Amino acid sequence: MSQLIDGKKISAQVKEAVKQEVATLKQQGIPVGLAVVLVGDDPASKVYVGSKKRTCEELGIHSEEYLLPASTTEEELLELVKKLNQSTTVNGILVQLPLPKQINEETILNAIDPIKDVDAFHPYNVGKIMIGDFDFLPCTPAGIMDLIASTGVDLTGKQCVVIGRSNIVGKPMAMLMLHQNGTVTICHSKTQNLKEITSKADVLIAAVGKANFVTADMVKPGAVVIDVGMNRLENGKLCGDVKYDEVQEAAGYLTPVPGGVGPMTIATLMRNTVTAAKLQHKRNQK
Ligand code: NAP
Repeated sequence: MSQLIDGKKISAQVKEAVKQEVATLKQQGIPVGLAVVLVGDDPASKVYVGSKKRTCEELGIHSEEYLLPASTTEEELLELVKKLNQSTTVNGILVQLPLPKQINEETILNAIDPIKDVDAFHPYNVGKIMIGDFDFLPCTPAGIMDLIASTGVDLTGKQCVVIGRSNIVGKPMAMLMLHQNGTVTICHSKTQNLKEITSKADVLIAAVGKANFVTADMVKPGAVVIDVGMNRLENGKLCGDVKYDEVQEAAGYLTPVPGGVGPMTIATLMRNTVTAAKLQHKRNQK
């Protein structure tokens, strides 16, 4: 029977540390602010944006919410991003993805000032992560690294397997584990003999986006299994990529869904916003 990796508890500790740092910075005259931009009315995105706003309030972070209609043009969104780049009350800018079809995501992400890029999706920050000299880490992979650290498992020399190669989760996840001396394999939809690869993993990250994709026979006994998936079932229930009931018997450590990776993503966003405020304050002192 695996041990549960409690994302709620660990994220609460991260948020508490952020709250205290925000209060200290405020006393020093350094306010911390985050702008969240949502284009359209995707229900899941609305939920994420709402919880980011609530968490900002909880931690004493100034938050600005920009809710734009689905018909917003790329030029209009670029105009807003430019305005937020200049804003003195906003340290971090988060544009909620996905964006409507008429807007090129890359164009928008590239327009965010890298020093306010709290999602770490700008090519400048992606490059910095690649070379291991970074200011920001993408929220989901960075949160996962904290979850892995909580198990006490040292990644040095371990077989680490990531299922999924998205720019948001899979690729940066692999890079972070490589930085911690893991021997990393990235799997994707064209991977052959997936089970053969995953069943050798000491650490297995499932970022596929398919409910119950990872079954017990794909897991090495005792492995650390991180379930990134957030899949909405027909009955409205949230479900991960890992078949929880059976993998629980095989894994050494396992994250639940909900209550695993999700809360860590938001906590890391808050931490990145504080980092952004400190970096901008330092730059302004020069
Ligand atoms: P994505 O962009 O759709 O990527 C999914 C990846 O899974 C792709 O690389 C794809 O391979 C791979 N894949 C699909 N079918 C496969 C198969 N049969 N065998 C092996 N690999 C397969 O998704 P994402 O943005 O990375 O997100 C993944 C999941 O994490 C989603 O459920 C998402 O909702 C969730 N998520 C959660 C959080 C959180 O905070 N909890 C944050 C971000 C994402 P190809 O590249 O070959 O197509």
